[in-house]
Amino acid sequence: MHLLEERILADGCALSDGVLKVDGFINHQIDADLMYEIAKEFKKRFADITYNKILTIEASGIAPAVMLGYCMHLPVIFAKKQTPKTMDNVISVKIHSFTKNKDYDVLLSKSFLNKNDKVLFIDDFLAYGSAALGIKNLVEMAGAELVGMGFIIEKKFQNGGSILKEKGIRVESLAVIEEISAGKVKFSK
Ligand code: 5GP
Repeated sequence: MHLLEERILADGCALSDGVLKVDGFINHQIDADLMYEIAKEFKKRFADITYNKILTIEASGIAPAVMLGYCMHLPVIFAKKQTPKTMDNVISVKIHSFTKNKDYDVLLSKSFLNKNDKVLFIDDFLAYGSAALGIKNLVEMAGAELVGMGFIIEKKFQNGGSILKEKGIRVESLAVIEEISAGKVKFSK
């Protein structure tokens, strides 16, 4: 997605440990117009598959997931990182966070996901694939079907994409980064 790549080059900041900071338009301040373009691109790329629910993880996945939900007129579920007292029918998995270097639980209520659901997962980043694999388990625990995974940015050098594809998962990433070195981002052709 050319518009997104241009924006990453203009406003993204490559940190030395393979982390890309996109706080100015995705992760903290959100460019809603760009997010709408991102959602339209996801809609186009997944036009050949059928899904009835969109799933993401709080917090950074919510913006693109909701925009896609709006474009597709579909409900959006976000897996939570804390259990509210009001939540029932809870299922959870442990995920390792690459950016924070710690494990955390993500959970959702089975009231919103069941064997009749075909689920598309949307997130901001694909790095080592730990969050995505956790979500795969969560969807399976709910008895639902995972039909695809869409990421705004994939860092190919961290291999999450290969791991997911080896498991037969349909993956679409809108900007694929080949490498980050000396503060420079290089996209895959
Ligand atoms: P994974 O589980 O694939 O290793 O990492 C995915 C999660 O880690 C994403 O949901 C995202 O929140 C976070 N993440 C991974 N790499 C980056 C990065 O370079 N920048 C930012 N801002 N978040 C990242």
